[in-house]
Amino acid sequence: MATKLEYIWLDGYKPTQSLRSKTKIVKSFSGKVEDLDNWSFDGSSTEQAPGGSSDCILKPVFTCPDPGRKDAYLVMCEVLDSKGQPHESNGRAHIEDDDNDFWFGFEQEYFLWDPSTNKPLGFPANGYPAPQGPYYCSVGANNAYGREIVEEHLDVCLEAGLNVEGINAEVAAGQWEFQIFAKGAKEAGDQIWVARYLLERIGEKYGVSINWHCKPLGQLDWNGSGMHANFSNTLLRTANSEEKFKAVCEAFRPAVADCIAVYGADNDQRLTGKHETASIHDFSYGVSDRGASIRIPLYAVDHNWSGYLEDRRPNSAADPYKVAAVIIKTVKSAKI
Ligand code: ADP
Ligand code: MN
Ligand code: MN
Repeated sequence: MATKLEYIWLDGYKPTQSLRSKTKIVKSFSGKVEDLDNWSFDGSSTEQAPGGSSDCILKPVFTCPDPGRKDAYLVMCEVLDSKGQPHESNGRAHIEDDDNDFWFGFEQEYFLWDPSTNKPLGFPANGYPAPQGPYYCSVGANNAYGREIVEEHLDVCLEAGLNVEGINAEVAAGQWEFQIFAKGAKEAGDQIWVARYLLERIGEKYGVSINWHCKPLGQLDWNGSGMHANFSNTLLRTANSEEKFKAVCEAFRPAVADCIAVYGADNDQRLTGKHETASIHDFSYGVSDRGASIRIPLYAVDHNWSGYLEDRRPNSAADPYKVAAVIIKTVKSAKI
């Protein structure tokens, strides 16, 4: 049966890469990523190649059913240059987790955005809605805006087989979150990108865009959007030791610049020390501390200092591949 394959990749725009995709029709498909062929695209239209030698290569790395289309699959791809080497925009290629020892749970926040007013859903065309307070985990037409989109997104993610662990309305009006967990850093990144893709496409149907910017309402008293990265490896999961946990946290201190470089554009606007964030200029960690750069969840303390850590600094527009890559590199540098 003719099958639609939607090849998805990340473009070369800086500082924030966006999703691109195009459809390939094949006669039949097994559903297994190893049975997919490489494909190519015009890199000169995506800031990934000069016009004179414009071909870039799409290498399929993850596939799942496409619930929004008949007889269709989504195909997440890495971008290779014309010589078959990872393109400089390809963050996934730099993840050092070949044995999938790293587990990641990303908490993706975003705003549903009305393109006609250029404001979040729920904001009047002029002025502002009631101040923050009632929106987080709210119910009711006064406080929760765009639930039909959020619900449809959850359903298609689950139908696609993505490991969504939950959703909730967030602190600002029109702001929502979903959480995705995977064993293996590459898989976690693949699933976040596919979930973002599905959300964008559902938004099209409703004439609502997705605003991934980390501080779309500027320095007014509205929360920004993060993508908290919860992570663990065997070391953390079986640490049984406060010292080991703190040694891993300390490894992040000299790595602040490397981390912030890939934790998303304009993060200085979000990491102000207010709105449940730490200042971008500081590095701190603490048990249960939502004002710290890295939070040690009570879970870990309760499990005899074994479990996971939460880096609260990555923002909503960050590339989960690059976030995972720097976290893995940093954890591996810990002096234990
Ligand atoms: P909070 O909002 O309190 O920070 P959430 O419940 O939204 O927490 O998210 C916690 C995340 O931690 C979940 O996405 C979950 O998948 C992830 N998580 C739990 N255990 C581990 C682990 N061992 N390694 C990595 N991530 C984990
Ligand atoms: Mn949240
Ligand atoms: Mn969190």
